[in-house]
Amino acid sequence: MYPAQSIAEPPYDVIIAGCGPTGAMLAAELRLHDVRVLVLEKETQPASAVRIVGLHIRSLELMAMRGLLDRILPHGRRRPASAFFAAIAKPAPRGVDSRYAYLLGIPQPVIERLLEEHAIELGAQVRRGCAVVGLEQDDEGVTVELADGEKLRSRYLVGGDGGRSTVRKLLGVGFPGEPARTESLMGEMEVGVPQEQIAVTVAEIRETHQRFWLRPAGVGVYSVLVPAAGVSDRAEPPTLEDFKHQLRAIAGTDFGVHSPRWLSRFGDATRLAERYRVDRVLLAGDAAHIHPPIGGQGLNLGVQDAFNLGWKLAARVRGWAPDALLDTYQTERRPVAEAVLDNTRAQTELLSTEPGAQAVRRLLTELMDFDEVNLHLLEKITAIGIRYDFGAGPDLLGRRLPDLDVKQGNLYGLLHRGRGLLLDRTERLTVGGWSDRVDYLADPTAAVDVPGVLLRPDGHVAWIGEDQRDLEDHLTRWFGRQAH
Ligand SMILES: Cc1cc2nc3c(=O)[nH]c(=O)nc-3n(C[C@H](O)[C@H](O)[C@H](O)COP(=O)(O)OP(=O)(O)OC[C@H]3O[C@@H](n4cnc5c(N)ncnc54)[C@H](O)[C@@H]3O)c2cc1C
Repeated sequence: MYPAQSIAEPPYDVIIAGCGPTGAMLAAELRLHDVRVLVLEKETQPASAVRIVGLHIRSLELMAMRGLLDRILPHGRRRPASAFFAAIAKPAPRGVDSRYAYLLGIPQPVIERLLEEHAIELGAQVRRGCAVVGLEQDDEGVTVELADGEKLRSRYLVGGDGGRSTVRKLLGVGFPGEPARTESLMGEMEVGVPQEQIAVTVAEIRETHQRFWLRPAGVGVYSVLVPAAGVSDRAEPPTLEDFKHQLRAIAGTDFGVHSPRWLSRFGDATRLAERYRVDRVLLAGDAAHIHPPIGGQGLNLGVQDAFNLGWKLAARVRGWAPDALLDTYQTERRPVAEAVLDNTRAQTELLSTEPGAQAVRRLLTELMDFDEVNLHLLEKITAIGIRYDFGAGPDLLGRRLPDLDVKQGNLYGLLHRGRGLLLDRTERLTVGGWSDRVDYLADPTAAVDVPGVLLRPDGHVAWIGEDQRDLEDHLTRWFGRQAH
């Protein structure tokens, strides 16, 4: 339990609605800074639908930055960092600048459990069976109402409550975009025919039919994607019979599918919240953006929102945040979501069976033989190409720094505590009165081609240079006034 508070002070600094991957990751990030966090989750039990999701390069890097990757890796399956864009089958491009250049396939309930455990170990409180149904905010904080009428008070509220977000609706924040045009069925199951036979039939069909696949997803198990149109009731969970029906309609055979591991139905609705913040209430993850799962980006995007927001909200709570810091959450992350929505729109078009779309797909398939094109698309999907707009400066400014070798081992090993870091090759710089928020590493041999670099807690480059005065201006910009 957190220590007793005075009557006037809210008992929690931050309440998070929703203990999905976004909410759990955010709770953990806030706890790194001793923020009093309560996560309210409407479901009484963790999710059980065993959908496999892919953690992309940037998310793997973030997990490494917090010392979580070793805990996660044994639960997943490494796959090559390739064929992400519209499932166009190309090998991984050369020159991917990351130690973690692979995709980790992992069941969503497992990654959710690991993130929740991590948040709880760091001291977050999670209450299950608590649906947020109301909120009111004033100058001091937010009053959150639960379905049973209980009212809770905190200084800030974050809606990490998924695509149908109650928090977003209560705020009256618009969620414009396109409604679902098509629905698909996806699942994993065993098959009753030899692999070679499947491969031949599938290759033939996929020449013209991209909203269809049947591909190996483990020993004897296949991942299956088929259009949902025309089968079963939209309100009901899909059945194996629905899959068989669609397989027969497209391939002329149901491949003897049986023993499903999980079955799901999803649409291609694409929407983006008009605002990510209304005073003391913020939105993150699917609550702020939804898009088709093509390229496997939604969970990654939400976890990365949490990384961007966590230290900024913590700074606000701790009282050292510069005025505009919390607003940079929206200015940085909303354009990233906009770009993801756009790439999923583009990928969706490339799955169409229309002759024009097929021609564009063939053309892009050719273009991807150029490593630069292949790499550009990979950087887009895996989020390692993100460059936040921090103003004029070298190309590295605003980008993430890869996990470099440094004299103490590797760079990300120094970021576990979620603090800033000054990496100083000149050995002449200092973090002075910011040392309570920013760590310092003097390393003339560090494998980075700049004299000094200031990293934010989310691993993005906030400053590059060798001038102490200039550095101090940037420390003030990102980390507030120095403590002494
Ligand atoms: C078929 C399919 C495949 C996918 N594959 C991938 C993939 O490979 N890679 C990837 O990155 N993404 C993938 N996604 C997307 C990913 O599943 C979502 O983007 C991700 O779950 C979003 O996380 P979240 O925490 O923001 O929201 P959610 O996971 O929706 O979690 C929200 C939580 O809030 C709770 N909640 C809701 N309302 C309330 C309330 N009023 N009060 C309290 N709690 C509430 C919910 O119970 C839930 O636990 C896929 C999606 C689909 C459909």
